[in-house]
This record gives sequence, C-alpha cells and structure tokens, in this order.
Amino acid sequence: IRRNPGEPEFHQAVHEVAQHIIPFVEKNPKYEAAQILQRLTEPDRIVSFRVCWEDDQGQVRTQRGYRVQHSNAIGPYKGGIRFHDNVTQSILKFLAFEQTFKNSLTGLPMGGGKGGSDFNPKGKSDREIMRFCQAFMTELSRHIGPFTDVPAGDIGVGGREISYMFGQYKRIRNEFTGVLTGKGLAFGGSEIRVEATGYGVVYFMEDMLNHKGLKFEGKVCCVSGSGNVAQYAVEKITTLGGKVVTVSDSSGTVHDSEGINAEKLAHIKELKEVKRARISDYILKYPHAEFIAGRRPWHIPCDLAFPCATQNEINAEEAAMLVANGCIGVSEGANMPSEKGAIDVFQNARILFAPSKAANAGGVAVSGLEMTQNSMRLSWSRDELNQRLRTIMGDIHKRCVQYGADEDGHIDYLKGANVGGFVKVADAMLAYGVI
Ligand code: NDP
Repeated sequence: IRRNPGEPEFHQAVHEVAQHIIPFVEKNPKYEAAQILQRLTEPDRIVSFRVCWEDDQGQVRTQRGYRVQHSNAIGPYKGGIRFHDNVTQSILKFLAFEQTFKNSLTGLPMGGGKGGSDFNPKGKSDREIMRFCQAFMTELSRHIGPFTDVPAGDIGVGGREISYMFGQYKRIRNEFTGVLTGKGLAFGGSEIRVEATGYGVVYFMEDMLNHKGLKFEGKVCCVSGSGNVAQYAVEKITTLGGKVVTVSDSSGTVHDSEGINAEKLAHIKELKEVKRARISDYILKYPHAEFIAGRRPWHIPCDLAFPCATQNEINAEEAAMLVANGCIGVSEGANMPSEKGAIDVFQNARILFAPSKAANAGGVAVSGLEMTQNSMRLSWSRDELNQRLRTIMGDIHKRCVQYGADEDGHIDYLKGANVGGFVKVADAMLAYGVI
C-alpha cells in the first residue's frame, strides 16, 4: 500500500489473486524462493503521456494517456484501451494485472497490458473522436508494435476508434502490421471478435451449469450494460434458450419482463451504436417495459446474472439480494464487476461464480487468433473461429476445475482461475532467472 498509494482498485485486484496464490506458493516453494508473486505485483513499466487535441470549436483540450505494460513473460503485452472520464492509473494497473492471468488462461502466447485515457467520448462528434484517437496514437505508437505490445478495444473504444488508431499507426510507421486487434474485416480484422467476449461469458456459464448437470434452457437472466459485451451476451443467452429481462447503462436499468428477443436486441444496438443514445429510450419503442433511473439490475429476480458494464457494479447488499431471489450463477463479463463483499456472498452461498479473468477471456482469445491470422496473412471462417472460441472457453473451464476443486467436489472457480493463470507465467519467469 505504501508503494502504490491511492490505488484502491489495484489493491483490490492484487488481494483477490494473492489470497489463492500465497497458499499455493507455500506448497510449491520454487515459486516462493523466486519471489514470483512479489515480482508480478510490479508492472514491467507504465508510460503516461499528454494528449492534445482540438474540439469542434477550435479549442485546445488536454487529456492524459497511459499504457501499462504489465508482463511479457509468455508473449507480447496484450490488452485493451479504455476511454472513460473515470480512467486512472489505479484502474489501468488493476486491469493490466488481471489481464496477465487471463491471457495465460487462454493457453495462447500473450502477455498482459492495458491502456487508455481520461477522455470522455460521450457527446463528442465523430470528427472529435477521430482527432482524439489520432493524437492518442501519435504518442502511443512509439511504445507498441506487433511483437512488443498489441492493444485492443475496451470501454469507449470499439470498431470506430480502433480504425482511427490503426489508420494513424499505419501512417506514422509506414507499415501494415497487426499492431491492434478488433480491426475491421476489410483491413485485417477477425470474424467473431466483436461477439467473442459476450459469447464466451455465456459459454462459460453453460459449462458451469453442465458440470453440475443443469441446463441453460428456460433460465431467467439479468444482464447489466448495453455495450459490446452485454449485447452479445444477450444474443447468446437467447440462442441457448434463456430469457434476458434486463439491460442497463450508466443512467439506469431497463426491465423487460417479456424478455429481450432478437428484434429488441437489434433496437438496442441501433440505440447504442448508431444513435449513441441512452438506454432509457428503449421504453419509447417498447412501452410495456420499465426504466428504473439510477439503479442497477440486481434487485430484479433471476436465475443467472451477467454483469457486463464496469468494475465494482455489484456490492455485498446487491449480491445478497440476487442470492435471496434465487440466483444460482454469476458469470462476470465486465472486469472485476463484483466488490470483495459481493464475492464473499456468492462464495458463502456456494452458487456458481465465474470470475472475469476466466469468464470474459473469450475476447482476448479471439484477439490472439486475430494476431495469428495477421501473421499468416490469411483469414479463417466464422464457423472455424466460433468453434475455436468454444474450445478455448471449454479448456479454461477445465483448467479452473483442475485447480479449483475443493475436497468435497465444489468448484471454487476464483481459486481455479487465479492458480491456473499463475502457473504458466510463473514457470516462464522461473526459466528466465532474475530479470
Ligand atoms: P462498452 O463501452 O461497449 O459498454 C460499456 C457499457 O457499460 C455501457 O452500457 C456503459 O454505459 C456501461 N458503463 C460503463 N461505465 C459505467 C459506469 N461507471 N457505471 C455504469 N455503467 C457503466 O464496453 P464493453 O462492453 O467493451 O466493456 C464492458 C466491460 O467488459 C468492461 O469492464 C470491459 O473491461 C470488459 N471487457 C470487455 C472486453 C471486450 O472485448 N470489449 C473484453 C473483456 C472485458 P454508458 O453507455 O452509459 O457509459
């Protein structure tokens, strides 16, 4: 805490991992002797830089940009870029730390990193977004590269922003390489990347249910968020026979007890991606639904919960409400959406709980496959990629079971993901010696 003052999110993430790694390394002294966990709590490096851009009124604006390169022990740094006005070094450090374990869990050769800016994209014109992205990449370009660090999207950074940044990198470096993932299909992007995180979160839930002999079909589901991850989680839940009754954004929650079907989901996509409107507009078209301003969805009864908006969006009280209302499973689409108190509630109730570093790893896994395709200069088909995503999520589930099974057969997925993600990175670090 003395070394990282004022970084509560980073402390939270390290604590969540350390609680399982400390007992594990005590039983495996080679890791302890080499101080692997201690070394992993210090990022390889953090760069922070000024980003100046001009708004539509010709006024000069100044933002802060960052890239946290956490660990490249098992591959180039890899992790998204976030544009949100609440971005701080603490948030990016927690995300980069988590990313290292998550990327290891995928089985693909990727290290962990994260970046972003306190730039707020809400209400900005398309030209302003373009100017900001270009200014951001002008500086970032000197720190990344296809063999060094390969960023992707995250909150506030979707296909549009990745395209502006990729175009600027290409122009500055005079090279066409797979330096970013989440690119458009016309210039090196991968099929299934847009869908991958949301689909993966649902595949992981399916695997947890199947492991217990339960079925997805007929389950009532609460989803939070209405961005990239939430949209494709809703789509996959519906395809598997579940019924989604909520979506949300930072202004509040939509509760549609009739269920959000494909037509309603298409409308949500139109609202958020094209009109860049608020989710409250949903009830203008579907007046039978209810909009609950300023509230998150967790008081609404459901069988399964999918937090897909942002960090710390479920507190202990909300977790208790979910459990009391009969929720039997939580699969985290967002990164660290459950506060520590909420995780304690889920674990004490022994419901199925999939932590983000396992459940939402499908996005970065398909990003890894995008890097593979770029290196080979060819593209795989949609079916092939969906199949690979399904297999990777199944393998992550198996790894969690391997490292997370308690003596009584209960699976502690949090422990399984933490230890399962740690081992490969730790073995690589041991092999390199003290560096
Ligand atoms: P988007 O920007 O597409 O969507 C974010 C959604 O969350 C929006 O509905 C947004 O509402 C809501 N939201 C954001 N911040 C807050 C907040 N402070 N309070 C309440 N609601 C908020 O982002 P993504 O869907 O890509 O990301 C969502 C989560 O998933 C993040 O935690 C991200 O790190 C994680 N993730 C994403 C991956 C990906 O592939 N995209 C991969 C792995 C993890 P509003 O529009 O009002 O801001």
